Amino acid sequence: MIELDIFVKSVYDVVKMIKKKANRRERNQGMNWIRPEKRLALYLRDGLACCYCGDTVERGVRLTLDHLRPYASNGSNNPNNLVTCCLKCNSSRGKRSWKLFAGKVAAYLNCGVSAAKIIEHIETTRCRSLNVAAAKVLIANRGGFTAALHGERS
Ligand SMILES: [Zn+2]
Repeated sequence: MIELDIFVKSVYDVVKMIKKKANRRERNQGMNWIRPEKRLALYLRDGLACCYCGDTVERGVRLTLDHLRPYASNGSNNPNNLVTCCLKCNSSRGKRSWKLFAGKVAAYLNCGVSAAKIIEHIETTRCRSLNVAAAKVLIANRGGFTAALHGERS
């Protein structure tokens, strides 16, 4: 009976540890999960435009980063798993795969852009190198991330 108690307690401890780890992972997904210079470098790599619909900062769109393989499915924060994505696209994607979502965006845009073109664009852009050092200098020279993104000088 004592052995069973010990066994149950260790199973309980393992479950508790797994839950704690999962919660930590969730907490880390706030706005500060990525350094500003890396975020800006990713936006610059992708031409300050949403990789799905092509909307740009100049047109007033709010940029975010999309995990191609979702973070919740153990997708990494590596640059080749992250693409610039407008807030509208990011909140519309849901649990769909990014390739399936590309098809939905192409149909929604209905302007001759095919899903294959969006996918090709993402496959190309995600492999480009990042210039984090240049983004860091830009942020410092402009006096902050927002100023750097919108081309303002402090
Ligand atoms: Zn978009």
